Formats: sequence, C-alpha cells, structure tokens
Amino acid sequence: MSEREFDLFVIGAGSGGVRASRFSAARGARVAVAEEGALGGTCVNVGCIPKKLFVYASHFRDEMSEAAAGYGWTVGQLGFDWPTLRDNKTREIERLNGIYAGLLEDAGVKHVPGRARIVGPHAVEVAGVRYSAENILVATGGWPTLPEIPGAELGVTSNELFYLDSLPRRAIIVGGGYIAVEFAGIFNGLGVDVTQLHRGPLFLRGFDDDVRRHLAEQMEGRGIDLRFGASVTALAKARSGLRATLTDGSQLEADLVLFAIGRHPNSANLGLEEVGVELAPGGAIRVDALSRTSVPSIWAIGDVTNRLNLTPVAIHEGVCLSETLFGSAPRSPDHENVPAAVFSQPPVATVGLTESDARQRFGEIDVYRSTFRTLKHTLTHGHERTLMKLVVDRASDRVVGLHMVGPDAGEIVQGFAVAIKAGATKADFDGTLGIHPTAAEEFVTMRTPVRS
Ligand code: FAD
Ligand code: NDP
Repeated sequence: MSEREFDLFVIGAGSGGVRASRFSAARGARVAVAEEGALGGTCVNVGCIPKKLFVYASHFRDEMSEAAAGYGWTVGQLGFDWPTLRDNKTREIERLNGIYAGLLEDAGVKHVPGRARIVGPHAVEVAGVRYSAENILVATGGWPTLPEIPGAELGVTSNELFYLDSLPRRAIIVGGGYIAVEFAGIFNGLGVDVTQLHRGPLFLRGFDDDVRRHLAEQMEGRGIDLRFGASVTALAKARSGLRATLTDGSQLEADLVLFAIGRHPNSANLGLEEVGVELAPGGAIRVDALSRTSVPSIWAIGDVTNRLNLTPVAIHEGVCLSETLFGSAPRSPDHENVPAAVFSQPPVATVGLTESDARQRFGEIDVYRSTFRTLKHTLTHGHERTLMKLVVDRASDRVVGLHMVGPDAGEIVQGFAVAIKAGATKADFDGTLGIHPTAAEEFVTMRTPVRS
C-alpha cells in the first residue's frame, strides 16, 4: 500500500466530484473530498434542481387560468407568494444536502469541509491541514461571469436568483444562453414583466436554427419582450429600481437585472499553475481523453474542463475516471450524441446534429419537420405550437439529429436519445408505431421531407 494518506483526493463535491468519490471508494480506494460550499455543487444548490422547481412553479398560472377555463373549470382569484416558493425550495435543497452527506459517509469517503489548494503533485491543503494523495481530482465547476461595464455590481447572477428577498415587478435579462432563456420563462410565468436582451441576431447559438426561431416566436407569444442585437452598456440606480443603458443608447428601467452571459471555469487560486497544470485561454483545465491534466497525478472533470457543461456529463466523466484509476481498464468519457434540454417555456430538447452541422458533415441530408397545435390546446384557445424535426443522413438513412420545442420535450427526447445513440435509421422510425394520441407519435409519423 502507498505511503500516502489517500488514493484519491477530490476537490469539489458537485455532480462530478461526488460521483467520482463514491464510485472510487466502492472500488476499494481511500478517498477524501474537499468542499468549500454546500454538498451537491451547482446542480443541487443553485442550478438544475432549484431551477426546475421554479419552472414547475411558473406553470401553475397558465394551467389554472386560461387553460382550465377551456375545460370548464372556474378558478378563483389567483395569488402567488414568492417567499413560500423560495423557502420551500431551500428546505428541499437542504434535505438533498443531507442525502449527499449520507451517500459520501456510506461509501466511506472522508468529507473535508473548506477551500482546498493544491500544494504539490501529490499534496492538497485545506484549512491549514496538508493531505497527501496518489491522485488529485479537480472537480471545482464554474462560476457566473459578470460583464465589465459600469454598475455591473448592481445586477445579479443566477446564484442570487434563488434567494431573492422579493420577486421583481420588472426584470431585464441579459444573455441568450440556457440560463437567460430559462429564467425569462420562469419570471414570465410568475407574472414578472420580462425584457430579454441578446447581443446576437438570435439566441441559443449552437442549437438548430428552426428551434431557435420557433422558440423565439413562442416566447414572444407569451409576452416576453425579446430584443436581439441588444445588450446593456451601463447600469445605474434609478428613483425606483435600476436604469440600464442599452447598446443603442436607449434606457430601460427595471427592478432587477440578471446577467446570464456565461460561466467561467473555477480554476483560479487553486495552485494549478504553480504545480504545472496547463490551462486553456479562459481558464479551462486542459485534459486528455482520459481526463488527465499535464501533471500525471492530477486529473480534472466537469465544468472546470469546459467540455460539455451538463450534470449528466460531469457524472459520466466521474464514473469513467473511477474506472480508469481503480477499475480493470481505462475508460474515456463519450461526448457523442449527448441529449440536452433547455427548460424554457415551451421547453426545447435535442440530440445529435443541427441541420447545418449535419449538412456540413454528411452533405446529402433529408429534413423532416412538423409544427402543430397540441390536442390539449384545442380547448384552451392557446396559440402555442410544437415543433418536431428529424435530420437524416441520406447515404446511411441514419437519423443524425432530433429536435423538439414543445411541452415535455425533455421527457420525450430522453427516450428517442436511446434510438439515436443506437444508430436508428429513418426506416426504424417509420417501422415504429405511434402511441395515440400523443405529441411524441409525430416523431414516427413524419413521411415527407421538407428539405432534401
Ligand atoms: P459543480 O457542480 O459546480 O461543483 C463544483 C464544486 O466545487 C462546488 O460545490 C464548489 O463549491 C466546489 N469548489 C470549487 N472550488 C473549490 C475549492 N478550491 N475547494 C473546495 N471546493 C471547491 N445542467 C444540466 O444538466 N441540467 C440542467 O437543468 C442544468 N441547469 C442549470 C441551471 C443553472 C442556473 C446553472 C448555473 C447550471 C445548470 N446546469 C444544468 C449545469 C450543471 O449545474 C453543471 O454542469 C454541473 O453542476 C457541473 O458539475 P461539476 O461537478 O463540474 O461542478
Ligand atoms: P451560455 O454559455 O449558455 O450562454 C451565454 C450567453 O451569453 C450567450 O448567449 C452569449 O452570446 C451571451 N454573452 C456572452 N458574453 C456576453 C457579453 N459580454 N455580453 C452580452 N452577452 C454575452 O451560458 P449560461 O450562463 O446561460 O449557462 C452556462 C452553462 O450552464 C450552459 O452553457 C450550460 O452548459 C449549463 N446550463 C445548462 C442548463 C440545462 O441543461 N438546461 C441550464 C442552465 C445552464 P453569444 O451566443 O453571442 O456568445
């Protein structure tokens, strides 16, 4: 046995770090994990979980008022109490923190509270105590980026949104990525007057263009003031609330300004440069296919490596790492055909390539697309439309991209992702019978390409 105290010292008990710790300990390794904040990391505390609870909260107004009336329901005066939602959410997150503590304890992982710093290729220091380990894993995640503009400190990031004292009456959301789009929907659903500003011509860069256009139309239909080619150049206090100066020189007042302009890897002040760990421009830790850094005993997974910044990806990278270090064979994480959802309203979900990426990669493709009003909306007089789209490589007949904007998109696309991962062809889709009446059946009934 090694002279060193631990086989693996993990820095960061978020999605990736917790999974790597538990799975490594289960393989008999002596593992410690340092955490400077709450167990569970971003996803559990200020990410996926509280965000999804807020998404649920924001659905009720629509469901109870407009939608319910079409089905014969009369609903009394609606009221919403932000502190109730916020505090119930916090209680649930604290319960999850406890579950994470139990999981680590049961697995035999030593939890070291505090901020860790690497002080040698095999040494980590936390709260003045030095620990030695055969391997060090950096799983420190990311942190929201603030713009360098006058008054930026008056705005908030996603971290603060989960603990606001009160719900704003008017909100400006800056950014056009996942967080901006999701919070535009949440605030809008809770009755806040929302203006979303995105610097580019259309938000959600990297997603399929039909998806981006369709979502923009549906969000505008819900009353969100979407402004493209616009951003904030300065922020100042106004008589009531905040005054934002926009790129065209105009001004806009709001009670809250959310900056959702991306996150940067949490790699500063960790001692990485001092021990020779190479960083990419922007601060991401450079790793090879097995998640090993430029220092052989130091590894990195999750958002701090800025590969695909999603919880299931960080978890998968953690599982692969424990197999590489303590399993029978090294295993590289697989970043192909990773499904993703944006919990916008309506939600987006996608797996595989966009139409333009598929055209670049395969040349000859067929595109199937359907937009329709779901059965539910026929009685609600809702105008919202669902979009479904398949991108097929003509030569192999394989479905290489599948995209949806509409209710339950994440739930539906999760199932289809198995088919895409398994290499399903359009003929396989055509040979699958639908479940009727559902929206999902549209994916197996599209017969005529809209573009070839
Ligand atoms: P993290 O979960 O961020 O964990 C890193 C941990 O390291 C933190 O707990 C931090 O306190 C700790 N740490 C950092 N430095 C140190 C140090 N020096 N010493 C000790 N501890 C340290 N992904 C999805 O898949 N689905 C979603 O719906 C989704 N929604 C999101 C919503 C929001 C608002 C945000 C911000 C993110 C969301 N994500 C979502 C992304 C997801 O949360 C991240 O991809 C995931 O948490 C990354 O896991 P990680 O292990 O790399 O890092
Ligand atoms: P994203 O990287 O998704 O989006 C950042 C947005 O901000 C882009 O629209 C970008 O525009 C814009 N932007 C960047 N810099 C500036 C600037 N200086 N001024 C104005 N706009 C700017 O970041 P998010 O913060 O939304 O989310 C971080 C990551 O967390 C996501 O990428 C995702 O990986 C993860 N996440 C996942 C979720 C999910 O799975 N549902 C939910 C939330 C987060 P441009 O396109 O022009 O670069």
